[in-house]
Amino acid sequence: MNLSNPEELKNLIRKHGFSFSKSLGQNFLTDREILDSIIKASNLDKSCGALEIGAGAGVLTRELAKNTAKTVAVELDKRLIPVLSDALGEFENAEIINGDILKLDLRGLISEKFAGMPVSVVANLPYYITTPIIIRLLENSDLLNSITVMVQKEVAERICAKPGGKEYGALSIAVQYKSAPEIICTAEPGCFTPPPKVASSVVTLRILTEPSVIVKDEKLFFNVVKSAFGQRRKTLSNALAGSPYFLLQKEQIAKMLDEMGLGSNIRGEKLSISDFASLSNKIYEIL
Ligand code: SAH
Repeated sequence: MNLSNPEELKNLIRKHGFSFSKSLGQNFLTDREILDSIIKASNLDKSCGALEIGAGAGVLTRELAKNTAKTVAVELDKRLIPVLSDALGEFENAEIINGDILKLDLRGLISEKFAGMPVSVVANLPYYITTPIIIRLLENSDLLNSITVMVQKEVAERICAKPGGKEYGALSIAVQYKSAPEIICTAEPGCFTPPPKVASSVVTLRILTEPSVIVKDEKLFFNVVKSAFGQRRKTLSNALAGSPYFLLQKEQIAKMLDEMGLGSNIRGEKLSISDFASLSNKIYEIL
Protein backbone atom coordinates (compact mmCIF):
# COMPACT_ATOMS: atom_id res chain seq x y z
CA MET A 1 0.00 0.00 0.00
CA ASN A 2 1.40 3.41 -0.99
CA LEU A 3 -1.02 6.09 0.18
CA SER A 4 1.19 8.97 -0.96
CA ASN A 5 0.02 7.93 -4.45
CA PRO A 6 -3.24 9.89 -4.99
CA GLU A 7 -4.81 6.98 -6.94
CA GLU A 8 -4.16 4.48 -4.15
CA LEU A 9 -5.48 6.92 -1.56
CA LYS A 10 -8.64 7.46 -3.60
CA ASN A 11 -9.15 3.69 -3.94
CA LEU A 12 -8.83 3.20 -0.19
CA ILE A 13 -11.27 5.93 0.76
CA ARG A 14 -13.71 4.95 -2.00
CA LYS A 15 -13.72 1.39 -0.67
CA HIS A 16 -14.93 2.76 2.68
CA GLY A 17 -17.38 5.27 1.18
CA PHE A 18 -15.52 8.20 2.75
CA SER A 19 -15.92 11.79 1.51
CA PHE A 20 -13.74 14.75 2.56
CA SER A 21 -14.96 17.30 5.11
CA LYS A 22 -13.73 20.85 4.54
CA SER A 23 -14.71 22.02 8.01
CA LEU A 24 -12.41 19.42 9.63
CA GLY A 25 -9.43 20.65 7.60
CA GLN A 26 -9.11 17.39 5.67
CA ASN A 27 -6.29 17.75 3.14
CA PHE A 28 -4.38 14.50 2.95
CA LEU A 29 -0.70 14.51 2.05
CA THR A 30 0.01 12.83 -1.30
CA ASP A 31 3.61 13.81 -1.97
CA ARG A 32 6.36 11.29 -1.35
CA GLU A 33 9.17 13.86 -1.08
CA ILE A 34 7.39 15.93 1.55
CA LEU A 35 6.51 12.80 3.49
CA ASP A 36 10.19 11.79 3.50
CA SER A 37 11.23 15.30 4.61
CA ILE A 38 8.80 15.15 7.56
CA ILE A 39 10.14 11.77 8.66
CA LYS A 40 13.76 12.90 8.30
CA ALA A 41 13.15 16.16 10.23
CA SER A 42 11.42 14.34 13.08
CA ASN A 43 14.63 12.41 13.76
CA LEU A 44 12.89 9.23 14.95
CA ASP A 45 14.35 5.83 15.67
CA LYS A 46 13.12 2.45 16.83
CA SER A 47 13.33 3.44 20.51
CA CYS A 48 11.01 6.47 20.10
CA GLY A 49 7.31 7.07 20.37
CA ALA A 50 5.41 9.28 17.93
CA LEU A 51 2.14 11.05 18.60
CA GLU A 52 0.24 12.06 15.47
CA ILE A 53 -2.62 14.56 15.49
CA GLY A 54 -5.22 14.15 12.73
CA ALA A 55 -4.29 10.84 11.10
CA GLY A 56 -6.61 11.18 8.11
CA ALA A 57 -6.33 7.99 6.02
CA GLY A 58 -3.00 7.07 7.63
CA VAL A 59 -0.42 8.07 5.03
CA LEU A 60 1.89 9.62 7.63
CA THR A 61 0.85 7.16 10.35
CA ARG A 62 2.22 4.26 8.29
CA GLU A 63 5.61 5.95 7.93
CA LEU A 64 5.68 6.77 11.64
CA ALA A 65 4.88 3.15 12.55
CA LYS A 66 7.78 1.98 10.35
CA ASN A 67 10.20 4.34 12.09
CA THR A 68 9.22 4.12 15.79
CA ALA A 69 8.74 1.68 18.65
CA LYS A 70 5.19 2.95 19.01
CA THR A 71 2.91 5.34 17.15
CA VAL A 72 -0.32 6.71 18.55
CA ALA A 73 -2.55 8.66 16.18
CA VAL A 74 -5.51 10.77 17.27
CA GLU A 75 -8.29 11.31 14.73
CA LEU A 76 -11.55 13.16 15.39
CA ASP A 77 -13.60 11.97 12.40
CA LYS A 78 -15.03 8.57 13.28
CA ARG A 79 -15.73 7.83 9.60
CA LEU A 80 -11.94 7.55 9.21
CA ILE A 81 -11.49 4.87 11.88
CA PRO A 82 -12.30 1.91 9.56
CA VAL A 83 -10.09 3.49 6.87
CA LEU A 84 -7.24 3.74 9.38
CA SER A 85 -7.72 0.16 10.62
CA ASP A 86 -7.43 -0.95 7.02
CA ALA A 87 -4.36 1.22 6.30
CA LEU A 88 -2.57 0.19 9.48
CA GLY A 89 -3.56 -3.47 9.68
CA GLU A 90 -0.01 -4.75 9.27
CA PHE A 91 1.45 -2.49 12.00
CA GLU A 92 1.11 -3.91 15.50
CA ASN A 93 2.85 -0.88 16.99
CA ALA A 94 0.26 1.62 15.71
CA GLU A 95 -2.74 2.64 17.78
CA ILE A 96 -5.64 4.86 16.74
CA ILE A 97 -7.58 6.98 19.19
CA ASN A 98 -10.89 8.44 18.08
CA GLY A 99 -11.02 11.81 19.84
CA ASP A 100 -10.58 15.56 19.80
CA ILE A 101 -6.96 16.58 20.44
CA LEU A 102 -8.16 19.75 22.20
CA LYS A 103 -10.28 17.77 24.67
CA LEU A 104 -8.11 14.73 25.43
CA ASP A 105 -6.01 14.60 28.58
CA LEU A 106 -2.72 14.97 26.71
CA ARG A 107 -0.51 14.55 29.76
CA GLY A 108 -2.25 11.36 30.82
CA LEU A 109 -2.23 10.02 27.27
CA ILE A 110 1.49 10.61 26.68
CA SER A 111 2.58 9.15 30.01
CA GLU A 112 0.27 6.15 29.66
CA LYS A 113 1.01 5.26 26.03
CA PHE A 114 4.73 6.04 25.87
CA ALA A 115 6.05 5.18 29.36
CA GLY A 116 9.85 5.47 29.32
CA MET A 117 10.17 6.43 25.64
CA PRO A 118 11.37 9.71 24.13
CA VAL A 119 8.29 11.13 22.42
CA SER A 120 7.92 13.36 19.38
CA VAL A 121 4.79 14.87 17.89
CA VAL A 122 4.63 14.51 14.10
CA ALA A 123 1.57 15.69 12.20
CA ASN A 124 -0.03 17.33 9.22
CA LEU A 125 -2.27 19.51 11.37
CA PRO A 126 -5.90 20.49 10.80
CA TYR A 127 -5.22 24.18 10.01
CA TYR A 128 -8.38 25.61 11.59
CA ILE A 129 -6.99 24.82 15.06
CA THR A 130 -3.21 25.10 14.53
CA THR A 131 -2.53 27.69 17.22
CA PRO A 132 -4.54 26.07 20.05
CA ILE A 133 -2.92 22.71 19.25
CA ILE A 134 0.60 24.18 19.34
CA ILE A 135 -0.13 26.01 22.60
CA ARG A 136 -1.42 22.78 24.20
CA LEU A 137 1.65 20.88 23.01
CA LEU A 138 3.96 23.56 24.43
CA GLU A 139 2.15 23.35 27.78
CA ASN A 140 3.19 19.69 27.86
CA SER A 141 6.58 20.18 26.22
CA ASP A 142 8.42 18.72 29.23
CA LEU A 143 7.12 15.35 27.96
CA LEU A 144 8.29 15.91 24.38
CA ASN A 145 11.56 15.88 22.44
CA SER A 146 10.36 17.66 19.35
CA ILE A 147 7.29 18.74 17.43
CA THR A 148 7.36 18.44 13.63
CA VAL A 149 4.21 19.77 11.99
CA MET A 150 2.79 20.80 8.65
CA VAL A 151 1.11 24.18 9.06
CA GLN A 152 -0.02 27.05 6.87
CA LYS A 153 3.07 28.79 5.47
CA GLU A 154 2.21 32.11 7.17
CA VAL A 155 1.91 30.36 10.52
CA ALA A 156 5.36 28.77 10.08
CA GLU A 157 6.75 32.25 9.39
CA ARG A 158 5.06 33.65 12.51
CA ILE A 159 6.43 30.76 14.59
CA CYS A 160 10.02 31.45 13.48
CA ALA A 161 9.81 35.26 13.28
CA LYS A 162 12.45 37.49 14.87
CA PRO A 163 11.64 40.90 16.44
CA GLY A 164 10.83 43.87 14.23
CA GLY A 165 8.53 42.51 11.53
CA LYS A 166 4.78 42.09 11.28
CA GLU A 167 5.01 38.29 11.61
CA TYR A 168 6.57 38.61 15.08
CA GLY A 169 4.01 38.26 17.85
CA ALA A 170 2.67 36.28 20.79
CA LEU A 171 2.90 32.96 18.88
CA SER A 172 6.58 33.55 18.00
CA ILE A 173 7.36 34.22 21.65
CA ALA A 174 5.31 31.30 23.03
CA VAL A 175 7.11 28.90 20.69
CA GLN A 176 10.61 30.37 21.05
CA TYR A 177 10.28 30.43 24.86
CA LYS A 178 10.09 26.64 24.94
CA SER A 179 11.78 25.53 21.71
CA ALA A 180 14.11 26.26 18.81
CA PRO A 181 11.91 26.32 15.69
CA GLU A 182 13.14 25.76 12.14
CA ILE A 183 11.33 25.74 8.77
CA ILE A 184 12.14 22.47 6.98
CA CYS A 185 10.39 22.83 3.63
CA THR A 186 7.42 24.31 1.82
CA ALA A 187 4.56 22.31 0.28
CA GLU A 188 2.42 23.72 -2.51
CA PRO A 189 -1.34 22.96 -2.54
CA GLY A 190 -0.76 20.26 -5.19
CA CYS A 191 1.01 18.10 -2.58
CA PHE A 192 -2.38 17.36 -0.96
CA THR A 193 -5.64 15.65 -1.88
CA PRO A 194 -7.83 17.69 -2.08
CA PRO A 195 -5.52 20.73 -2.43
CA PRO A 196 -5.93 23.40 0.29
CA LYS A 197 -6.29 27.08 -0.68
CA VAL A 198 -2.99 28.06 0.95
CA ALA A 199 0.69 27.12 0.77
CA SER A 200 2.05 25.06 3.65
CA SER A 201 5.36 24.59 5.46
CA VAL A 202 6.83 21.91 7.65
CA VAL A 203 8.36 23.25 10.89
CA THR A 204 10.32 21.42 13.54
CA LEU A 205 10.32 22.74 17.12
CA ARG A 206 13.24 21.25 19.03
CA ILE A 207 12.21 21.41 22.70
CA LEU A 208 14.76 23.16 24.92
CA THR A 209 15.76 21.54 28.22
CA GLU A 210 15.24 24.94 29.92
CA PRO A 211 13.10 27.86 28.69
CA SER A 212 15.11 30.30 26.54
CA VAL A 213 14.76 33.12 29.13
CA ILE A 214 14.35 33.26 32.91
CA VAL A 215 11.06 34.72 34.11
CA LYS A 216 9.90 35.18 37.70
CA ASP A 217 6.25 34.56 36.86
CA GLU A 218 5.36 32.74 33.65
CA LYS A 219 1.73 33.78 33.67
CA LEU A 220 2.66 37.45 34.09
CA PHE A 221 5.27 37.13 31.29
CA PHE A 222 2.64 35.82 28.85
CA ASN A 223 0.12 38.43 30.00
CA VAL A 224 2.67 41.17 29.24
CA VAL A 225 3.29 39.62 25.80
CA LYS A 226 -0.43 39.26 25.06
CA SER A 227 -1.10 42.85 26.13
CA ALA A 228 1.78 44.16 24.02
CA PHE A 229 0.56 42.46 20.84
CA GLY A 230 -3.17 42.80 21.55
CA GLN A 231 -2.89 46.45 20.60
CA ARG A 232 -0.01 46.46 18.16
CA ARG A 233 -0.52 49.97 16.87
CA LYS A 234 -0.08 51.54 20.28
CA THR A 235 3.25 52.22 21.92
CA LEU A 236 4.14 49.51 24.41
CA SER A 237 3.58 51.79 27.41
CA ASN A 238 0.07 52.67 26.19
CA ALA A 239 -0.75 49.03 25.38
CA LEU A 240 0.37 47.85 28.83
CA ALA A 241 -1.40 50.71 30.63
CA GLY A 242 -4.62 49.49 28.97
CA SER A 243 -4.02 45.84 29.84
CA PRO A 244 -6.91 43.92 31.42
CA TYR A 245 -4.40 41.71 33.30
CA PHE A 246 -2.74 44.24 35.63
CA LEU A 247 -3.08 47.83 36.77
CA LEU A 248 -0.09 49.97 35.79
CA GLN A 249 0.30 53.64 34.87
CA LYS A 250 1.74 54.58 31.52
CA GLU A 251 4.47 56.60 33.31
CA GLN A 252 5.57 53.60 35.38
CA ILE A 253 6.04 51.51 32.24
CA ALA A 254 7.74 54.32 30.34
CA LYS A 255 10.23 54.61 33.21
CA MET A 256 11.01 50.88 33.12
CA LEU A 257 11.54 50.98 29.35
CA ASP A 258 13.88 53.96 29.77
CA GLU A 259 15.83 52.11 32.46
CA MET A 260 16.17 49.17 30.08
CA GLY A 261 17.60 51.53 27.45
CA LEU A 262 14.71 50.86 25.05
CA GLY A 263 13.16 54.31 25.06
CA SER A 264 9.68 55.07 26.40
CA ASN A 265 8.01 55.24 22.96
CA ILE A 266 9.05 51.80 21.72
CA ARG A 267 6.48 49.39 20.24
CA GLY A 268 6.12 45.83 21.49
CA GLU A 269 7.20 44.25 18.21
CA LYS A 270 10.73 45.64 18.68
CA LEU A 271 11.31 43.77 21.96
CA SER A 272 13.24 40.51 21.95
CA ILE A 273 12.10 37.61 24.13
CA SER A 274 14.75 38.49 26.69
CA ASP A 275 13.54 42.14 26.69
CA PHE A 276 10.01 40.85 27.43
CA ALA A 277 11.44 38.66 30.20
CA SER A 278 13.31 41.62 31.79
CA LEU A 279 10.27 43.86 31.51
CA SER A 280 7.92 41.31 33.05
CA ASN A 281 10.44 40.68 35.85
CA LYS A 282 10.48 44.43 36.57
CA ILE A 283 6.67 44.54 36.56
CA TYR A 284 6.64 41.54 38.91
CA GLU A 285 8.67 43.55 41.46
CA ILE A 286 6.15 46.40 41.69
CA LEU A 287 2.82 44.55 41.49
N1 SAH B 1 -2.31 13.31 8.53
C1 SAH B 1 -3.23 13.13 7.41
C2 SAH B 1 -4.45 14.03 7.50
C3 SAH B 1 -4.22 15.51 7.63
S1 SAH B 1 -5.70 16.46 7.47
C4 SAH B 1 -2.48 13.32 6.12
O1 SAH B 1 -1.47 13.99 6.10
O2 SAH B 1 -2.92 12.80 5.10
C5 SAH B 1 -6.09 16.84 9.16
C6 SAH B 1 -6.79 15.72 9.91
O3 SAH B 1 -7.10 16.18 11.23
C7 SAH B 1 -8.12 15.28 9.32
O4 SAH B 1 -8.14 13.88 9.15
C8 SAH B 1 -9.17 15.73 10.34
O5 SAH B 1 -10.31 14.88 10.40
C9 SAH B 1 -8.37 15.68 11.63
N2 SAH B 1 -8.89 16.54 12.72
C10 SAH B 1 -9.59 17.69 12.58
N3 SAH B 1 -9.87 18.21 13.79
C11 SAH B 1 -9.32 17.38 14.72
C12 SAH B 1 -9.28 17.38 16.16
N4 SAH B 1 -9.84 18.37 16.87
N5 SAH B 1 -8.65 16.37 16.79
C13 SAH B 1 -8.07 15.36 16.06
N6 SAH B 1 -8.07 15.31 14.71
C14 SAH B 1 -8.69 16.30 14.04
